[in-house]
Amino acid sequence: MKVYNTLSKQKEEFVPLEPGKVKMYVCGPTVYNYIHIGNARPMIVFDTVRRYLEYKGYEVNYVSNFTDVDDKIIAKALEEGVSAQEISSRYIEECKKDMAALNVMPATKHPLATEEIDGMVGMIKELIEKGYAYDVNGTVYFRTKKFDEYGKLSHKNLEDLQSGNRSLQVSGLEDKEDPLDFVLWKPKKEGEPSWESPWSAGRPGWHIECSEMSRKYLGEEIDIHAGGEDLVFPHHENEIAQSEACNGKNFAKYWLHNAFLNINNRKMSKSSGNFFTVRDIEEKYEPRVLRFFMLNAHYRSPLNFSEDLMDSAKASLLRIVTAVDNLKFLINKADIVEMTEQEQKEYEETTEYVKKFEESMEDDFNTADAIAAIFELVKFSNRTVGEGTSKAYLQALLNRILSLSSILGIEVEGEEEMLDSHIEKLIEDRQNARKNKDFALADQIRDGLLEKGIILEDTREGVKWKRA
Ligand code: AMP
Ligand code: ZN
Repeated sequence: MKVYNTLSKQKEEFVPLEPGKVKMYVCGPTVYNYIHIGNARPMIVFDTVRRYLEYKGYEVNYVSNFTDVDDKIIAKALEEGVSAQEISSRYIEECKKDMAALNVMPATKHPLATEEIDGMVGMIKELIEKGYAYDVNGTVYFRTKKFDEYGKLSHKNLEDLQSGNRSLQVSGLEDKEDPLDFVLWKPKKEGEPSWESPWSAGRPGWHIECSEMSRKYLGEEIDIHAGGEDLVFPHHENEIAQSEACNGKNFAKYWLHNAFLNINNRKMSKSSGNFFTVRDIEEKYEPRVLRFFMLNAHYRSPLNFSEDLMDSAKASLLRIVTAVDNLKFLINKADIVEMTEQEQKEYEETTEYVKKFEESMEDDFNTADAIAAIFELVKFSNRTVGEGTSKAYLQALLNRILSLSSILGIEVEGEEEMLDSHIEKLIEDRQNARKNKDFALADQIRDGLLEKGIILEDTREGVKWKRA
């Protein structure tokens, strides 16, 4: 299996530190609002990575944090006149609901930054002892230049960074030793939440949170560290500096980053106001359409969001859903139980699509091609099944479509909204059955629909239907 590693800027063979196990950390959201669909992209793509690893038989320890103390949370709390904790716990709950709707599996552990302050203070102490950090009047900074490999992830060199930071140096606002040094601990301002520490009552910097939570729940060395591409610098670069300076070990073996979700070809972000929340999208589409839309692109390609693209994602997904529904329908009325020899041969042919699916996923999680393989399987299924097909063959095809779809976390079993066109197709089948005087079949179709809450009405203008 090949994965693209931001560290080496290459696809590398995936070899976990410990055979059969994968330790994976994904930077989670800062919780001061509903998540937008850009935030949903890393959740969906790395959940899919996890699902594929699990399908391959790895035991995945998946940790993803919530950043629940931050300037933006504090600002929102002031605005509403409530505590920062009230804001963060509210939006953590809402975020979990969105994740569930998008079929993102709960992490093995979702640590909250505010519950891990002791560990962070401990890590900062270690960094000070090792000479990698220093305290100036209650603020603790990381001594960036002391970490020789600084810049290795973002492929930036220190000279360029330094010239870019000169303005800071002359501004006189900072009392740090070097403009490249970054904050590990900052003293509180009036009215802010704070914790005791040897340096001041205050709170940790954002980067140290992930270094500590990753170490605590996964250990000093992990397999995969992931997040959106905006996190490469400075967040992940700083995490590497902190963790490797402190632990004296390589932090993460593979660094995976998703590209951005854009809107009208501009970055979707909260600060610029051009964003849709997952909730906004749910008003018009089922959340599984959003997941399907996202996985139709490779995770390292920028993805432009538009209603047209969502509509076409919805229509494509419907093709799978309809095929699944049709298989179930045929299974219910199949007379022949065992697979015929011909069917056995045909079923063997479908391993081709499974192979294609796996090869796509093994190539740096190419979900777009993996979905194409599912479509080929669906087409094959539609072509080879019919009235006289055996139950065993139908069931085997159904299982295969369901299992590949579930590796991508795509739910393809019918739900109301998706079924409109399928209902109409069944009504057409019923009309044909009546024409052929197969009244038993016609009744069976009508009863089947009724079971799903669809009521048919025969009127002079034709068959009308409504939901019960
Ligand atoms: P934040 O809450 O801003 O820290 O973001 C949480 C996660 O969402 C991070 O991994 C970000 O990189 C990612 N992210 C934010 N905006 C987008 C976007 N428009 N497209 C893709 N990923 C994003
Ligand atoms: Zn992080």
